[in-house]
Amino acid sequence: MLAGLMQNVPLTLNLIRERVADLYPNKTVTTRYPHAIHVIGYGEVLDRAGHIANFLQDIGITRGERVATLAWNSHRHLELYMAVPCMGAVLHTINARLLGPDIARLLDHADDRALFVDRSIWKTIGHEIDLPRRVRHVVVMEDEPDQMLDPPARAGTTQAHYEDMIRRHQAAFAWPVLSEDEAASLCYTSGTTGNPKGVLYSHRSTTLHTLACLFADGIAMRERDVCLPAVPMFHANAWGFPYAALMAGANLALPCRQTDPTSLVELIEAAHVTMATAVPTVWIGFLDHLRRDASALGRISSLKRLPVGGAAIGRSFIDDFTRYGIEVMHCWGMTEISPLGLTNVERSDLDDAQVRETRTAQGLPIPGCRLRIVDADGARCVTDGKMPGELQISSPWAAGAYFDRAAEEKGLHPEGSFVVDEGRVWLRTGDIATIDPHGYVRIVDRAKDLIKSGGEWISSQALELQLMNHPDVREAAVVARPDPKWQERPVICVALHEDTKELRERFQQDYGSALSEHFPKWQIPQEVVFLTELPKGKTGKIDKIALRTAMQPAQ
Ligand code: AMP
Repeated sequence: MLAGLMQNVPLTLNLIRERVADLYPNKTVTTRYPHAIHVIGYGEVLDRAGHIANFLQDIGITRGERVATLAWNSHRHLELYMAVPCMGAVLHTINARLLGPDIARLLDHADDRALFVDRSIWKTIGHEIDLPRRVRHVVVMEDEPDQMLDPPARAGTTQAHYEDMIRRHQAAFAWPVLSEDEAASLCYTSGTTGNPKGVLYSHRSTTLHTLACLFADGIAMRERDVCLPAVPMFHANAWGFPYAALMAGANLALPCRQTDPTSLVELIEAAHVTMATAVPTVWIGFLDHLRRDASALGRISSLKRLPVGGAAIGRSFIDDFTRYGIEVMHCWGMTEISPLGLTNVERSDLDDAQVRETRTAQGLPIPGCRLRIVDADGARCVTDGKMPGELQISSPWAAGAYFDRAAEEKGLHPEGSFVVDEGRVWLRTGDIATIDPHGYVRIVDRAKDLIKSGGEWISSQALELQLMNHPDVREAAVVARPDPKWQERPVICVALHEDTKELRERFQQDYGSALSEHFPKWQIPQEVVFLTELPKGKTGKIDKIALRTAMQPAQ
């Protein structure tokens, strides 16, 4: 082998930090806190990242150790996005919509050493989180002004205020030279079964993914853009948009937790947002708002592009936004792939009919991603746009294994989520797709037993398990029903021991309170379908496909 002689600059997030310091210290991030709009320059964000790095060093955080956040989209969260990975530690962003006990389990599984938490979250669910002993430091971030609201510190744990911590530490920090293979951040996803699985991004994968967001046939983010990620910063690094904006030098606008149409219009107007991203549920509500309030249109005239992903979108969704002069960019991705994999860009070799046909597809692989569909035996399917198969992906920014310390210690590879074939690792996505001769991928079904409601996963298996504890239930299944607002909502299909009016009423009355002990409210199904018997497949298992089909609206 003859080695190339080019500079071996490691692909780490320090490339972003240095570029921002060199070129974009005056670009800004605008945060819409509930009580005020706050603007800060990128130069100051980096300074404050230095203060945080000094704090983390002082409390003994070393390379590779995990630091958790439980926070909405704000400039402080952005500061942590830079500080934690650039000092060599790992940023673990936790979903703030989970219940306290689930959050505690994630803190424990990740072996987090410190927690940065928004005051609004700490105040509401802090008392439900039984902090693992190894979380020795809690830093409360002031997304609400009143310090009186802070819960008391836990025994064995220090509790500081973020702004005090910043004041007490200096900005100058000797950022270490990192290897590109070091872990940068950690994000848990529902995997294919509902059990949380850690996806451990490396500096290299995040840097490459960031560059891919800037490709013209990717998200095409540019310095002139003002980017509003309305997808939470605990979801796959807000789909990589904050890092992409920093790398591109685009201004950022962050909505905190407010993604209702009125708040978004206000933020788009205040920060002159040009591109915004979120799951379809957010934009469906936004469209309704635009239809009702004509004056809102004038206030969002800067908005030109809408990369939308997380769930499928229909033609009318695209047409409605096009009428308002906003281009919808349909994207597909998953936490395991950082998350961007497909963007729907128009190939020049399509005729008009093909353009129309492919508009609602999830799109073409962005450069750097390779996708294939395979049948049940793992053989490649024909790419004729008709034959469905399991979608698999290989990419430098796709996971090659889950972060599972217990399995790692035992030398195990968790579950069958990965296959090695054709000389590379393929991630099994759990999505069923077709690929047409031009390469457009269309998701047609989901093999994973999960329901996606408003961009958040609901585990049907976990709900079923609890329902089976109900004394009147003989068999139960939870399946998705299409929903105009949330894309999908879970529906309980249940057969009771005795199918009487009395038992049905009793079940209707008490299943909600039984489930609420284990699930947040948004995960609990509102609808129950009573059956005398649930349909079964050849092996005697409940035929969920038949149930799901029965839940589809009549054509
Ligand atoms: P998450 O890991 O939470 O980002 O979820 C990833 C999953 O969401 C994918 O595997 C798909 O099942 C689904 N998904 C993401 N984007 C789309 C899309 N554009 N159309 C249909 N399903 C999507």
